[in-house]
Amino acid sequence: MKPQTPRFAPPKDADKRRKISPVICYPPNACIEADHGAIADLRNEAKHIKTVTVPARDAACVDVPAGAFFRILSVQGPQVGDLNLWNKVDLQEKFYSGKTRALHGTHLSTGNRMWSSFPNLRPMATIVDDTLDWYGFDEFGGSVHDVIGTRCDPYTGRLLSGGNYHNCCHSNLTRALAQHCELSFMDAEKHVHDVLNVFMCTGFTRDTGQYFMKASPVRPGDYLEFYAEIDLIVGLSACPGGDCGQEHTSDVAQCYPLEIEIYDPGAQARAMHKTPPKSAYDQSHGQG
Ligand SMILES: [Zn+2]
Repeated sequence: MKPQTPRFAPPKDADKRRKISPVICYPPNACIEADHGAIADLRNEAKHIKTVTVPARDAACVDVPAGAFFRILSVQGPQVGDLNLWNKVDLQEKFYSGKTRALHGTHLSTGNRMWSSFPNLRPMATIVDDTLDWYGFDEFGGSVHDVIGTRCDPYTGRLLSGGNYHNCCHSNLTRALAQHCELSFMDAEKHVHDVLNVFMCTGFTRDTGQYFMKASPVRPGDYLEFYAEIDLIVGLSACPGGDCGQEHTSDVAQCYPLEIEIYDPGAQARAMHKTPPKSAYDQSHGQG
């Protein structure tokens, strides 16, 4: 938030400086595009094989093999989900929301990809369907499925209101990953990371640049569907904020479960999938 009364006077050419046109940092580039034709062919073959229920104010993890699809589905009532992705065989490779934001923008939809942490920087998943794509950006600058927030957590809750709340998305994901990978809570917590806020409606206020949320437009039956580019562990928390229209980090909001549906084209079809390579950068950083 900028000071309302700046301490420093603007230069004489302040208006001219402000009027300089912005330049998109990462313009659309074929290198970050998925092979949509190959994905569509696999989707045609894919059959629903499994549904995992994520209880309200809790999380669940599920394995999704490369070449399969997973769908996050709204059921019963409006509910926001906080999504983490890990490489199934290397938890150090995880979703990198900041670089995904830089590459695709503040809010994701069909065609956008979820990129992994350095030194890998490769697509972990590609969004293939989004029943909320009609929403666009509203008059407040809000939209759905953001990569601008982090995840609600007990540390910020403690900082701002003093109490200990244990059902934040951060703790929910920690418990779910610990159980899924048979790790201690302390070991699992290190791997929990900033999320894709599925179904959440967010933005930054235009006057002060503050992060805002508003009631999600999601309705039961809405879904966001992904193609797994590498073998994944998918972690999803049903946020204690419910539709995130009022508050989170508490038991105040009405919450609902979410479902993760897995669609598999079969091992033979999945064998056609080309796993994206890790970044070819040599990590020498200029040495030698
Ligand atoms: Zn949350």
